[in-house]
Amino acid sequence: MGWVAVAVAVWATVRADELPRHIVLLIGDGMGEGHVSAARAWLGRRLRFEDFPFSVALSTESAGGGITDSAAASTAMATGRRVANGTISRAIPGDGSDLLTLGERFHAAGRRVGLVTTSYLLDATPAAFASHATHRSDYTSIMNGYLAANGPRLLLGGGYGNWSTSALEQAGFTLATTPSNMWWAATSGVSRLAGLFGGGAIPYEYDGLNGFPGIEDMTRAALAYFGRTDEPTFLLIEGGRIDHAAHANDLPRCLGEVLAFERAVEAVLAWRGDRADVLVVVAADHETGGLRVIEDRGPGVLPAVSWSTTWHTAAPIRAYAVGAGADRLLGARHLTDVHGLLGDPAFPWPEIRGAVAEASSRVRVHWLAISGRVYGVEAATSGLARSWMLCGVVTTSQSGIQDLLVSFSDPPPSAFFFRVWQRTGDPDPP
Ligand SMILES: [Zn+2]
Repeated sequence: MGWVAVAVAVWATVRADELPRHIVLLIGDGMGEGHVSAARAWLGRRLRFEDFPFSVALSTESAGGGITDSAAASTAMATGRRVANGTISRAIPGDGSDLLTLGERFHAAGRRVGLVTTSYLLDATPAAFASHATHRSDYTSIMNGYLAANGPRLLLGGGYGNWSTSALEQAGFTLATTPSNMWWAATSGVSRLAGLFGGGAIPYEYDGLNGFPGIEDMTRAALAYFGRTDEPTFLLIEGGRIDHAAHANDLPRCLGEVLAFERAVEAVLAWRGDRADVLVVVAADHETGGLRVIEDRGPGVLPAVSWSTTWHTAAPIRAYAVGAGADRLLGARHLTDVHGLLGDPAFPWPEIRGAVAEASSRVRVHWLAISGRVYGVEAATSGLARSWMLCGVVTTSQSGIQDLLVSFSDPPPSAFFFRVWQRTGDPDPP
């Protein structure tokens, strides 16, 4: 029996369908599986996003392989590139150049972009989707990204920083500083809306919002703002303070933030209704605190938990997707793949995950397939470019890992190489 070698050479020859009309990404900052478990214990039920049809674990490490911070993690999702901690969408390590963000790409493609956070707007997670800075503490550069002509149409969150009313006005923003202002502006057709609340972050839900809008209210206002027209949108909603409470190992406040995040997800799902052109993705940027539930004590009672650190951990996070193109989440493995999922309709490229020789003349190939696409499977007995032979064209009806039996005539080769590509016709020669 021959041994099996699997070639990594895989290419896609075409763009798949269009991106969904509306894309909503909700990020629970620091929200690991323990945080979700704690909220599940408190509620006595699964969270809405846990029942999304597609879910994967994603690794989060930043450039160099270490534990990420929110700047590098958000840059990974916004640009598809791993960068050093502290970096906001710049090629570091590298030549330090600006990396094109999803916010900028979407704006150029005619999509309206909105950023919502319970942290302050200049904080790293929203920043990486629209701005560039060598360090996350360079708030001037981050603000410039927001105010740029190709910056977001909507900003809602904590008002920390040296925001200038005249600079906002000059950039075409209507400024709101209270929930009622926010709602008025969101529903009256202003061209750009900046809701800057207080001089820091939004207060913890646990402590009472005290006149601030919470994440649920800001989410509803953002949906109302974009819902006035049906233009394509990209909306980022960050539960930014899950992370803050987790750094303090403060379970009640952490739980309060996860529950508010869940309500924001519910608001998005209610807005989506039965529309077929909306993609909703729930993710986290990293885990904070090493939180684990030790004992579920029933609904309405704090579960017994343990924390392992006051910093971030390397634990993978879980991402969830529902709606148009949500099955493509199955191809994601690292935060950088969120960029492909949201911004590239051809993501994921087909990928061979394994091959097993079943007989001397037959090999079972496993590859990642997304339903509705047509794949060509090629085999070769050497890795040379000219030796590839088409051995199957497959249309899949289900997303997931698919099998294909490939037969060879005698005499059996001593090695097999395989590659898979997405097909609309003949591929370009390699
Ligand atoms: Zn943190």
